[in-house]
Amino acid sequence: MKKTTGTDRSITRNWRPATQAVRGGTWRSEHGETSEALFLTSGYTYDDAQTVADRFAGEAQGMTYSRLQNPTVAMLEERIALMEGAEACRAQASGMAAMTTALLCQLSAGDHVVGARAAFGSCRWLLDHLLPRFGIETTVVDSADNAAWEAAIRPNTKVFFFETPANPTLDVVDLKHVCSLAKSRGIVTVVDNAFATSALQRPMDFGADVVAYSATKLMDGQGRVLAGAICGSQEWVDEVLLPFQRNTGPNISPFNAWVVHKGLETLGLRAHRQSENAVALGKFIEPRVPRMLHPGLESHPRHSLAMEQMTATGPVFAFDVESREKAFAILDALELADISNNIGDARTLMCHPASTTHAGMTDEEREAMGVTQGLLRINVGLEDIEDLKEDLGQALEAAGF
Ligand SMILES: *Cc1c(COP(=O)(O)O)cnc(C)c1O
Repeated sequence: MKKTTGTDRSITRNWRPATQAVRGGTWRSEHGETSEALFLTSGYTYDDAQTVADRFAGEAQGMTYSRLQNPTVAMLEERIALMEGAEACRAQASGMAAMTTALLCQLSAGDHVVGARAAFGSCRWLLDHLLPRFGIETTVVDSADNAAWEAAIRPNTKVFFFETPANPTLDVVDLKHVCSLAKSRGIVTVVDNAFATSALQRPMDFGADVVAYSATKLMDGQGRVLAGAICGSQEWVDEVLLPFQRNTGPNISPFNAWVVHKGLETLGLRAHRQSENAVALGKFIEPRVPRMLHPGLESHPRHSLAMEQMTATGPVFAFDVESREKAFAILDALELADISNNIGDARTLMCHPASTTHAGMTDEEREAMGVTQGLLRINVGLEDIEDLKEDLGQALEAAGF
């Protein structure tokens, strides 16, 4: 495949992220198609036996099998890496495939992991249930307490694993502090950047080693496919991630990769407009509810840190309305926003984390994370902000707020 324009990689590598979002990773076939081609193929054929032998021996470039390489997936990986400012990226079947792979590819029995207490339910399940089954010790800390990270380090600590902002309580981690602490102790930081994406926050600029994604969220952004990605240095991807990925197969389908690749073209526009809508809607709701969790508002304990680390605070925030009954009453009164547990979508979606995304945890675990029975999480979409205010306004009123 060839590029009809921008063939000089020393030039294209230096394009800025907004340019990479629409052009990065574009490799055109002999037809010169404008939109990237979808190579829906599991295998490849060869002109002669020596060609395939050379490729398997690593002595010649070229595709051999879609668990190892696929042109559409490779285009997505190159685009994500260029937008992230990472040397390399490998796409995954889902966000959880990405998190599981990013951890298991580098951990062994006897290692120790420090993770953030506030996290997506399945990310906590990896720490609390999966890793210990393989003899990997884990400790969870209050991720907003800088000293807690250092206090949790043991001689065998290998990885720090956290989200920022976190799902669903919007805790913000001090990236510069935690990443530099990790670096000074030889610990690898794995940051789940699903809530922000590279359009709003680039953890590697603050010293993160590995950035992992649910691309199901803002990257697709239109609620269509499950997808994930892992970014790291070329050396880490080649030597640590790839041996695991090639042999275990958490790969994304080329079709899903193509859909996400299209989503990236509008990621920056969507992420910024949805962030603006989320701040406006947060300001509208805040005076009416008992507790607001929104890194874009001054009431958030780490608002100024969020504004330093992020170009905008993203589409998601949460608020507490005291009880499950009141939370359900608000959801049931919605006329525009949907009841849905997805995030990052262009549509406004609301859910009750305690009975959905975090239903698999015990009451004590949820309480410790701040996922109360009255907590509602909202993903603010691209609708007109006035329509959203009217809908949330009438739903709050219906529940007595
Ligand atoms: C949704 C989500 C995941 C899991 O991603 P899937 O694509 O659903 O597997 C992981 N981390 C965070 C922060 C998420 O929001």
